[in-house]
Amino acid sequence: MRLEQFPRHPLTFGPSPVHPMPRLSAHLGDVQVWAKREDVNSGLAYGGNKTRKLEYLLPDALAKGADTLVSIGGVQSNHTRQVAAVAASLGMKAVLVQEQWVDWPDAVNDRVGNILLSRLMGAEVRLVDEGFGIGFKSSWEQALADVAERGGTPYGIPAGASDHELGGLGFANWAYEVQRQEQELGIFFDTVVVCSVTGSTHAGMIAGFAGQDRPRRVIGIDASARIAETRAQVERIARRTADLIDLGRDLRDDEITVLEGWAGDAYGIPVASTLDAMRLTGRLEGVVLDPVYEGKSMAGLIDLVQDGRIPAGSTVLYAHLGGQPALNAYSALFR
Ligand SMILES: *Cc1c(COP(=O)(O)O)cnc(C)c1O
Repeated sequence: MRLEQFPRHPLTFGPSPVHPMPRLSAHLGDVQVWAKREDVNSGLAYGGNKTRKLEYLLPDALAKGADTLVSIGGVQSNHTRQVAAVAASLGMKAVLVQEQWVDWPDAVNDRVGNILLSRLMGAEVRLVDEGFGIGFKSSWEQALADVAERGGTPYGIPAGASDHELGGLGFANWAYEVQRQEQELGIFFDTVVVCSVTGSTHAGMIAGFAGQDRPRRVIGIDASARIAETRAQVERIARRTADLIDLGRDLRDDEITVLEGWAGDAYGIPVASTLDAMRLTGRLEGVVLDPVYEGKSMAGLIDLVQDGRIPAGSTVLYAHLGGQPALNAYSALFR
């Protein structure tokens, strides 16, 4: 099936904004850096990249008669907050399994930011004691079973909506949206930089861009500190998504690039380069990045420009995927 033939339930304002970052570009030297802003893509609880993925999962949930979205993430998961918002907006329920993915000492970690917002929107939030991982777990099976036992019809959405057949479609669509915006702006982004953890954001982009005539580099920056898993996940989802949208050829290995070096030792824990990138972007552009994802991918972008792996003269699109609500759980870093 072609991408346009998959049902999509609109949850965003429309195409997300694209804008230049002139002061950051001047600071870095001879490159033009632009941002495409998924952090302001929707009126549903601050939006973000998961909202775009959910546009393609929801028609399936509704067709199956679901009344409860069940999902999983860390305590400060942006994804589960977006699931809560989407459920609320459709008059559905949400059950969210929130695991201890990050060993982070802020005293209010499980009370502010994303988890606060999910509770506010009426989701059933379940704090459980399991660590980082994107597979299926017993707490998850239990949540699905509990919904069914109460007479509800659950629809399971895996972590980050990635390990789901339709999980890559949202960002395959993004790739075509970029192409249309380029035509309007009279510009071409030869390099795209994106943060990667559960993988379907980057993977969807790869599949979408692969169907376009003019080649470009789509660079994923790992923020999970488990590079082999991230790479395998991105590759698997990119190939699955390419098949799903009838790309008509196999993806080449050189189309799948996930780089390590900016995640630090653990998912969710910022390192010096993360905080430097957050401060630089905040001070030069008034653009706010989070310490879990976007600070790490921006740190990658900065280094890749400075060491020439993104060569002088490049026109770079930074995919800002959202995530600012988690900042509240990192207050200790900015006292
Ligand atoms: C989930 C998330 C990512 C990573 O996207 P994946 O599709 O999980 O790889 C990056 N940035 C933010 C803000 C996120 O919420």
